Amino acid sequence: MPTYNRADLAFVRGQGAQLWTEDGRRFLDFGSGIATTSIGHAHPHLVQAIQEQAAQVMHVSNLYRVPQAEKLAARHVAASFADSVFFCNSGAEANEGMVKAVRKYYAENGQPERYEMICFEGAFHGRTLGMLSATGNEKYLAGFGPPVQGFSHVPFGNMNALRAAIGPGTAGIMIEPIQGEGGVRPASLDFLRDLRKVCDEYGLLLALDEVQTGMGRSGKLWAHQWAGIEPDVMSAAKGIGGGFPLGAVFAKEAVAKHLKAGTHGTTYGGGPLACAAGNAVLDVILADGFLAEVDRIARKLWDGLVALAAKHPTVVSGVQGAGLLLGLKLQPEVTNGDAQAAAVAEGLLTVAAGMNVLRLAPALIVRDAEVEEALELLDRTCRRLTPSLNKVAAK
Ligand SMILES: *Cc1c(COP(=O)(O)O)cnc(C)c1O
Repeated sequence: MPTYNRADLAFVRGQGAQLWTEDGRRFLDFGSGIATTSIGHAHPHLVQAIQEQAAQVMHVSNLYRVPQAEKLAARHVAASFADSVFFCNSGAEANEGMVKAVRKYYAENGQPERYEMICFEGAFHGRTLGMLSATGNEKYLAGFGPPVQGFSHVPFGNMNALRAAIGPGTAGIMIEPIQGEGGVRPASLDFLRDLRKVCDEYGLLLALDEVQTGMGRSGKLWAHQWAGIEPDVMSAAKGIGGGFPLGAVFAKEAVAKHLKAGTHGTTYGGGPLACAAGNAVLDVILADGFLAEVDRIARKLWDGLVALAAKHPTVVSGVQGAGLLLGLKLQPEVTNGDAQAAAVAEGLLTVAAGMNVLRLAPALIVRDAEVEEALELLDRTCRRLTPSLNKVAAK
């Protein structure tokens, strides 16, 4: 179906942060799918784990124990705020599970009328009917009938508006620590801390969508750790399977205990193959010093982008984001679509995001030389996009 405006590029091979097309052209991949191939393309450890698991048993139903899932859940619990994990297949499915968990919590606590989530303008939570409503963007909702009830939206980062929106039907607050699709916009750490306080004050559940920000992308395993807070529930996907479809709902026991047998489910979710991939990704990301290295190289990319913005003020108006989820905010005269195309012409893959931002999300294993090369390609991209320079070149 014509659901995507695809670029005329077909990649047949990848290695780390690089991709090659069928006609042999090499690209530096600073999109990673969309922040998904967290440990790069063709990582030998991930490839081996998938190959070995596929040769043993690929799928069994959740009607049976799945040792790979038990192991992955135990490791994620040990490394996070959560007491238990539910595995599924995608970000939208994880978010659906997260919102169901929040609703169930109040229903089981004798308050079924409390089912509303307060969400934020500019959010992106996925494309199912429920998550379209949590996303709340008219552009995505148009043509798909009445939105699912129980989601309201307040301006991102506005505590007064948030407090004013809390009512007797409010169950929780749902937020991305950094809005990804919405324009690589970070919530301030103080705002995240204030959300935790407001949730405690009103007895609400804090539900974090870490589908894009999680799994090391921010330089910590989960982005909320920068704020020193814990959510009650959290969703993950994208990077957690390293490119293999895997999503997860994380929850504290107080919430998770109500999702008894038969209340929620999934056919593929938590299968042996996906969880073998998840374990292999975790092996890499939890290795000693790995996240410190992500943080170091992310700061190098940030510094380079700040210098780039200073050098090309007619193209770039600012740099935003955190870790290896960074955005170049472009001047209104330059569209992110044009910038993305210009970067492709220079051999660099990026992803457009909302608010005219060009998003950079290289694999977490990106190397110094690749960051330097990307900065050089972005410098050339900016020169292509500078109107005055183009006129000079044309003469
Ligand atoms: C990508 C994304 C989703 C949706 O994930 P899918 O796997 O496409 O369903 C949800 N929330 C956030 C923050 C995302 O970035």
